[in-house]
Amino acid sequence: SRAFNFCSGPASMPEAVLAQAQQELLDWQGRGVSVMEVSHRSPEFVTVVEEAEQDLRDLMAIPDEYAVLFMQGGATAQFATIPMNLLGSKQQMDYVDTGVWSQKASKEAARYGEVNIVASAKENNYSKIPEMAEWRLNPQAAYLHYTPNETINGVEFAWVPETGEVPLVADMSSSILSRPIDVSQFGLIYAGAQKNIGPAGLVVIIVKKSLFGNALPITPSIMNYEQVAKQQSMLNTPPSFAIYLAGLVFKWLKQQGGVAAMEALNQRKAEKLYQFIDQSSFYQNPVDVSCRSWMNIPFTLADDKLDKQFLVEAEANQLLNLKGHRLVGGMRASLYNAIPEQAVDALIEYMKDFEQRCG
Ligand code: PLP
Repeated sequence: SRAFNFCSGPASMPEAVLAQAQQELLDWQGRGVSVMEVSHRSPEFVTVVEEAEQDLRDLMAIPDEYAVLFMQGGATAQFATIPMNLLGSKQQMDYVDTGVWSQKASKEAARYGEVNIVASAKENNYSKIPEMAEWRLNPQAAYLHYTPNETINGVEFAWVPETGEVPLVADMSSSILSRPIDVSQFGLIYAGAQKNIGPAGLVVIIVKKSLFGNALPITPSIMNYEQVAKQQSMLNTPPSFAIYLAGLVFKWLKQQGGVAAMEALNQRKAEKLYQFIDQSSFYQNPVDVSCRSWMNIPFTLADDKLDKQFLVEAEANQLLNLKGHRLVGGMRASLYNAIPEQAVDALIEYMKDFEQRCG
């Protein structure tokens, strides 16, 4: 009875996780209370946080010299928190402009220091990532920030930038846990939870502890990585229900075979949809094949007057949230980890049928 939900976030959650949460909602661990009603200082809740952290460490093979933090305010709060924590005495930061989210991150950072845009995909309308050889890197920068997957534009890096001594900071909101990565290549990884992790509002940070000690004096304690790490993400009352749900998602991912299994599934799902779009003269994807996202696939119809009908009929077929972002228009199918392959098959069948009737 569940619909296929292609929303870009808040996004589809694994059905098994929701079923478990529902079953435990009134009576968690036989305690006669919900997990959201227990003290965050109680040993049983501390175990929830510790297990969530350990499971994420296992899934991503996070080395010991990195702290894992659960914070609030989503990825957007991190746009400010990152410069506040990492700038130190450096005053300069490098940002790569590959689309809407990297722009938002760099605009916020500019409140705290000097932002240098090392490269921009603007000249090709955000459909291609500029070659790294063309980036104007600043060796004095406190860090280099990039967005491995641009959720709105559907542009994804298939490679990790090499920045030498300059710490690499990545907004992995829409790509974390979708394929294996080598955490040791990064100074800091952050991800809003509402795509591949859990409920919106929660944000996960993986930060190299050697970067602690660079916070600007204005940094609020609740945004100070070192202080949050010292308190095991419980400097104040944490978003306990969101952390519990994230923990269930991490356990679900382990049961599915971990991130390597997700990579195989995600590649298969994305390639199926791209192949279908490419062979059709009715649908079109604007992104260069070298950087097409596995997670967010934007596409347009040959005639945008048909957009509304396409969406209404899709919804009647239990295919939800296919409308593209208002900034780019058209359609977008988000294929995060919890989207089963059958959802992509059902979408392609629907698209074929629509093209036959209306194309
Ligand atoms: N960064 C990326 C890549 C995103 O897709 C989003 C969208 O949700 C955000 C940041 C903003 O996240 P939040 O709404 O959690 O602040």
